[in-house]
Amino acid sequence: MAKQTGSLSINSENIFPIIKKWLYSDHDIFVREVVSNACDAITKLRKLALISEFNEPDDYKYRIDVIASPKDKTLTFIDNGIGMTADEVNEYINQIAFSGATDFLEKYKDKATDDQIIGHFGLGFYSTFMVADKVTIDTCSYKDGAEPVFWECDGGTDYTMSEGDRTEHGTEITLYLNEDCYEFANEYRVKEVLEKYCSFMPEEIFFTNADAAKEEKTDVVESSATEVKEEKEDNIDEAVDENAKDSDAAEEKAEEPKEKPINDIHPLWTKHPNDCTDEEYREFYRKVFLDFKEPLFWIHLNMDYPFNLKGILYFPKLNTEYDTLEGKIKLYNNQVFIADNIKEVIPEFLLLLKGVIDCPDLPLNVSRSALQNDGFVKKISDYITKKVADKLSGMCKTDRENYEKYWDDLSPFIKFGCLRDDKFEEKMRDYILYKNIDGKYLTLSEYLEAGKEKYENTVFYTDNEKTQSQYINMFREQGIDAVVLDHNIDNPFITHQEQKHEGVHFARIDSDITNTFKEDIPEEELKETTDRLSEIFKKALNNDKLSVKVEKLKNTSISSMITLPEETRRMQDMMKMYAMGGMDPNMFGGSDSLTLVLNANNQLVQYILDNPEGDNTGMVCEQLYDLALLAHAPLEPEAMTKFVARSNEILALITK
Ligand code: ADP
Repeated sequence: MAKQTGSLSINSENIFPIIKKWLYSDHDIFVREVVSNACDAITKLRKLALISEFNEPDDYKYRIDVIASPKDKTLTFIDNGIGMTADEVNEYINQIAFSGATDFLEKYKDKATDDQIIGHFGLGFYSTFMVADKVTIDTCSYKDGAEPVFWECDGGTDYTMSEGDRTEHGTEITLYLNEDCYEFANEYRVKEVLEKYCSFMPEEIFFTNADAAKEEKTDVVESSATEVKEEKEDNIDEAVDENAKDSDAAEEKAEEPKEKPINDIHPLWTKHPNDCTDEEYREFYRKVFLDFKEPLFWIHLNMDYPFNLKGILYFPKLNTEYDTLEGKIKLYNNQVFIADNIKEVIPEFLLLLKGVIDCPDLPLNVSRSALQNDGFVKKISDYITKKVADKLSGMCKTDRENYEKYWDDLSPFIKFGCLRDDKFEEKMRDYILYKNIDGKYLTLSEYLEAGKEKYENTVFYTDNEKTQSQYINMFREQGIDAVVLDHNIDNPFITHQEQKHEGVHFARIDSDITNTFKEDIPEEELKETTDRLSEIFKKALNNDKLSVKVEKLKNTSISSMITLPEETRRMQDMMKMYAMGGMDPNMFGGSDSLTLVLNANNQLVQYILDNPEGDNTGMVCEQLYDLALLAHAPLEPEAMTKFVARSNEILALITK
């Protein structure tokens, strides 16, 4: 063919700087674009072979080669796919970018913002100019008699096209990296990027370090040293041998015995769930998420209609109660990695899981903000939510034993889902479990049913089994059940549950003393005692505002307790959680809203009543108050110091 040179109209001059600086924040994305083009080129040829439009030897091996040369600072991508004719290069490569900056920008404007395109092959091939000063294409179409084409462009306004020398169908694209991007000729860096984007692409991909390969070859083949050029040392290059400059990469491959593709062309999610073993699921999890804790279980999504979606969602095991929930959902489009944790597609609460989702139908050539408002994307997200809820509720119904076993790990996730997604909440409502103080798991209705005589529609809970153990014991003694709700998420979750279950009220076990715990005595009868004790305690604690209540508790060993109305405490917790700019949580009551409950049936309280002026009475009052406080919340440092000193003093008294 005659050599063709093209020039670009004036207004296209600025295309390449735009590509370089503006389009993608992740420079490494060009690898995905070029390799997925290569995959497509092979897929197209396979299809043609299938319908006998093209004849290929039976054992023909389609492949993609990625070859880095740290020394030459080049990165080459070779595929033996469909290739391009000169006309096709004109149409697909030249016209797009060289049709004028205005058109070009018009076409890509949606994708070129901070709200970066999710990327599907928007700029494709041209993203190579983000990292390369010069790019060449050597291509030969599969078509009979097609002439090979060599294309070259230095990222300026000109390209050249001439006859190439490629003999086999396919395409070879070479990037001459720019100075800032030499990293992409480094073996480890390239492998890392390939792993990120291409691990599950549908055609086999092989990586070669051209320089290392040459070096190996010279070990075997005695090669005559020709010219030795002075090479500038750079920080990427490893030791290389200059001698085997002309050796052919293809020859090398034949010599390597165990050539392994860098990718898995049949990732587990593409298989039918019936064909996958538990071990395969676990193995896949380990490999993809590098998490060596076993996942609890998984959901294999597999649907063709009304849209195409496949994937595996894993429920990770939380190591300790302090583990943060940090999931990762990898999104793929036809086995090409798009991005992690795209919250426009994956419901937010599912991002706490780990998994892969492959949805070829996703409209990824639009901006993220457009995705958010896309009805189709919403359907996908709803479908995933529904599947997860079905799996969980199904497990609760048919495999309650395991469901209970996993509950502690599942519960933050499920609760978060209920808070965030009404549909999920509806589906899960009857399958929320509550662990009671004896470690048994109950649904809300099971709990309420069991206690309907004693605590109608009230759910008693502890948020700290250790500090609240005194209350827990009291509950146990009276045969009243309480549940443990000690995760951060339980605070908002309780409020949410109250909204969803009309009439049901949650109360922390120290919010009030229920009738079951005390003798049924009219309040007036205790009035005089209350007044007396109140006066003594106010004086001893030097606190005029102290509110004291006297009860006759059935359990005589309990001397004192603190109660705080549920609503006040929740308000305080909320203030603390949002750490509202300098506002004092105590403005909603604080210690003023605490009530000191004294048990008139207790011997120490009786002692105080009998000895209001006793030498040790003040000390006993202080001690009883601190003891009650301790079961409610940790003491302030100063109070704690005093408490310890006083305890020692008391011990000294009894050992005198
Ligand atoms: P897109 O892939 O989104 O169409 P690209 O700029 O990446 O955009 O590529 C433009 C076109 O160039 C492709 O659609 C394809 O027809 C052609 N092309 C690119 N790379 C190859 C290749 N390796 N083999 C054959 N054709 C290719």
